[in-house]
Amino acid sequence: AAVFGPSAVTEYLEQVVEQLRDQRGGAPSDSIPALAEADPERFGIVIATADGHVYAAGDADEEFSLQSISKAFTYALALEDLGAEAVHEKIDVEPSGDAFNEISLQPGTGRPANPMINAGAITSTWLVPDSERDLRRDRIRAAYSRCAGRDLAISPEVLAQEHDAGDRNRALGYLLASAGIIEGDPIRALEDYFAQCSVLVTCRDLALMGATLANDGTNPVTGEEVFAPGTVSRVLSVMSSCGMYDDAGEWMVRVGLPAKSGVGGGIIAVLPGQLAVATFSPALDRHGNSVRGVLACERLSQDLQLHFSRTA
Ligand code: GLN
Repeated sequence: AAVFGPSAVTEYLEQVVEQLRDQRGGAPSDSIPALAEADPERFGIVIATADGHVYAAGDADEEFSLQSISKAFTYALALEDLGAEAVHEKIDVEPSGDAFNEISLQPGTGRPANPMINAGAITSTWLVPDSERDLRRDRIRAAYSRCAGRDLAISPEVLAQEHDAGDRNRALGYLLASAGIIEGDPIRALEDYFAQCSVLVTCRDLALMGATLANDGTNPVTGEEVFAPGTVSRVLSVMSSCGMYDDAGEWMVRVGLPAKSGVGGGIIAVLPGQLAVATFSPALDRHGNSVRGVLACERLSQDLQLHFSRTA
């Protein structure tokens, strides 16, 4: 692999941004106005290393909503709170091969296939308990903030729109309740799921959240242990098989890293022990993954030899 000095890394990332800027395929999500109105020209790439160095290019400091990238971190919090076994009784770890918002539970157990599709993510949110001091949604937001190393906020505007457009997720919540996976009324868990999707982040935040996973659950800049290493191992494993939804197989061939995307246009990809790559660009492919983001991750994986098999 090439050896880069710090400014050479930034220069390299700026080149990738320039080279992929004319890739104008796909379109921003039309699920809510805040996403539909996003500027498709926005494009940022940030690398954060497991020892806390950050290299940014393009629109690294533009805020957008976390959306499904939240699923990995709420799953981590549920694992921390309840332990892997209790979580596994409610959420399996099998790729579904279906779209992220598919209305389906596994035959027999009634469990969601995995925590990265909406059915599984709503269950993870439901599993996270309130604490004596804080409501569930504040505990979730606080965990994301510790990973990012700054206080992240829920956008009231995005949250209101997620609420208004939330019927399909409500259908999933009631399906989960009917199957006995969610116990009791799913409404508050659904609202908290909408809130976690509405957390505003920058590409730089995402890179640090990814670097916290790359560094076994400890934020490499603040030094705070957010998640235990065993939790992170399980989260990264599920990201490998399920993080890119029904494109997870293709992604693994082309990029070869555990990753998570969101319909806000963000992607994080993690090389355990080494670094995280975060990308932001709002135009999405048919799976709901950022078009430029996927291309940028593929390029970085090749150029920096990040693919787990190193031969792809
Ligand atoms: N808020 C979106 C939903 O629940 C998140 C989906 C995504 O980012 N893929 O449908």
